[in-house]
Amino acid sequence: MPLTARTILITGASRGLGLEFVKQIVKSSTPPEVVIAACRNPEKAVDLQNIAQGNPILKLIKLDLETDDDLESAFQETKAAVGDLGLNLLINNAGIYDKGKPGTLADISRESMQNHFNINVSGPIAVAQKFLPLIKQAASQSNVKKITPNRAGIIMVSSLMGSQQLTYKDGNGACLHYKCSKTAITMASILMARELKEAGIFVAALHPGWVRTDMGTSQAPLSPEESIEACLNVIGNAEEDVNGKLISFTGDILPY
Ligand code: NDP
Repeated sequence: MPLTARTILITGASRGLGLEFVKQIVKSSTPPEVVIAACRNPEKAVDLQNIAQGNPILKLIKLDLETDDDLESAFQETKAAVGDLGLNLLINNAGIYDKGKPGTLADISRESMQNHFNINVSGPIAVAQKFLPLIKQAASQSNVKKITPNRAGIIMVSSLMGSQQLTYKDGNGACLHYKCSKTAITMASILMARELKEAGIFVAALHPGWVRTDMGTSQAPLSPEESIEACLNVIGNAEEDVNGKLISFTGDILPY
């Protein structure tokens, strides 16, 4: 089943996977009525601006996850754009991975750990908290009573690098900053799914695969097109059995 959510917000939409989410969602066979592309600098987001020119359903908003400063204006602009529909789907995609140093015990700094936790954990949680009234609005209006991302949901883009079980297998002690932050956002997704189940809201952590973006590097096996086509298929078909799980772009439930 394709994604049928009528209103969708994607964070970190300026490039990489966020941009590809926007591209594929606006050109889908069942496009939503409103797509909000959130990014740090909408005025510099040329790719998004070009897509928006031919697609009136796409709206750009400013949302920097480093602080809460943009949250209120982002919320108000989204509320005005989605109107009575509320927000069906929040894709919390923005994230950082500083590859400047290995991120081992030998070189890690408190500042680097804090930056990764701020952008990769505290930021997405703050966004989910802020937009929750709009997501609840979408959930309560739906005729469908099942818990699915098409009705009302939050997708936290995480990584199998944050899976404790899978990380044990790679035998690699590096990436303390990134891996710990992704472990935390996966746990946050699990806890949020429990809290929001009563409200009919789906929450899952999503591993998009290793993808050729600035973060994933040119070594990665997947193109952004391949990753996001698969991710949208997984999101569009997700039901309660994967609520509160770490799911892969392949549709598999990953151990965390
Ligand atoms: P990129 O580095 O290519 O893009 C990161 C995006 O996040 C950019 O749009 C960037 O905006 C945005 N961003 C960074 N900092 C902030 C901030 N403070 N506030 C708002 N937005 C910010 O990464 P990917 O597209 O590859 O990654 C997207 C998500 O997928 C991340 O959460 C990542 O951890 C996850 N992931 C990626 C994998 C991969 O192989 N690529 C593998 C597993 C998970 P700007 O342009 O302004 O810098």
